[in-house]
Amino acid sequence: MEEEFPYPVADTACRLWFFQHSLRGYAWYVPKAGGYVNVGVGSTADGLWNSGQNLKHHWELLTRKLEADGLVTGHTFHPIGHSYYVRGDVSQPRIGNAFLAGDALGLATRDMGEGISAAIQSGLRAADAIVTGGNYSVDSIPRYSLPALLGWRG
Ligand SMILES: Cc1cc2nc3c(=O)[nH]c(=O)nc-3n(C[C@H](O)[C@H](O)[C@H](O)COP(=O)(O)OP(=O)(O)OC[C@H]3O[C@@H](n4cnc5c(N)ncnc54)[C@H](O)[C@@H]3O)c2cc1C
Repeated sequence: MEEEFPYPVADTACRLWFFQHSLRGYAWYVPKAGGYVNVGVGSTADGLWNSGQNLKHHWELLTRKLEADGLVTGHTFHPIGHSYYVRGDVSQPRIGNAFLAGDALGLATRDMGEGISAAIQSGLRAADAIVTGGNYSVDSIPRYSLPALLGWRG
């Protein structure tokens, strides 16, 4: 769940909160240029299911924290929900002239749910396969974000 809205941002530091209140995921506060802010909370569906919690509850906790910490005050929230698949079986990214890439193939990383890089990389590979008639594979696109974030992978 997330919301982006105009806000007179006073604190320009991004914040991420991991595993708050046993959430299998994280919440964020991201001030943007031009007086906008994006706030949100995300989790794996099975993590919520196993804990008996739901994301609306975590959204409420987040908005209370934003208010209490003075990051966003006096705002009436209207969040939007999104769902997408993280990396699973991608053994058949292509059938004939039909190519799957990005979220359509479920390429977001398993740990952070990041899918932008994989969407770009798979799109470029699909385009290359179409132009050259070569093989299309997404096998070497990383399944996890943390190794690169921690400097374990270039
Ligand atoms: C709240 C949230 C926060 C996220 N934060 C991050 C992050 O910080 N970093 C990160 O790496 N990833 C993040 N992700 C994941 C990332 O947004 C996706 O993995 C990524 O955008 C996938 O790119 P895509 O091009 O495959 O799909 P999309 O970005 O979904 O693009 C698909 C496009 O196709 C269009 N479309 C759909 N159907 C049709 C149709 N029939 N005809 C024409 N067009 C159509 C859609 O309108 C859309 O514009 C986040 C996701 C969410 C929901």
